[in-house]
Amino acid sequence: MSTAQHTSALRGAGLRVTAPRLATLAAVEEHPHADAETIAQSVRGSLGTVSRQAVYDVLNALSDAELLRRVSVGGRSMQYELHRHDNHHHLVCRECGRLEDIPCAVGEAPCLTPHDDHGFDIEIAEVVYRGVCSDCRAAVGRSEPAAP
Ligand SMILES: [Zn+2]
Ligand SMILES: [Zn+2]
Ligand SMILES: [Zn+2]
Repeated sequence: MSTAQHTSALRGAGLRVTAPRLATLAAVEEHPHADAETIAQSVRGSLGTVSRQAVYDVLNALSDAELLRRVSVGGRSMQYELHRHDNHHHLVCRECGRLEDIPCAVGEAPCLTPHDDHGFDIEIAEVVYRGVCSDCRAAVGRSEPAAP
């Protein structure tokens, strides 16, 4: 996405267009699923001095406005991606932490319905697939002693 598209996305969400917000959108687009620290480093790289707190504030504002999506797969810090409203899920390698997008098999959220919703109006089911990625499986294969 271009800066012009990010600008109109901010305007569309009713947010003021500021250099840190544009730099944060660009950083997240460039590093999908990055954590706040990585994004802050990238924003500082393009803008110079921006406090970490300022970047955290921007991440929260953009997430609340649904321009960014918070991704939490447990264990590690919160990660961010551009919000595409596509209800995609995530596949995580338990060995190296590699994270991949997986299209939702259903498409519409919520794609799972509990037997008992306790009276909730369920909006979304966040699905995380866990396993071992092909690189890690190959590495395990190499380090194992050959079968007798
Ligand atoms: Zn892996
Ligand atoms: Zn994703
Ligand atoms: Zn789904």
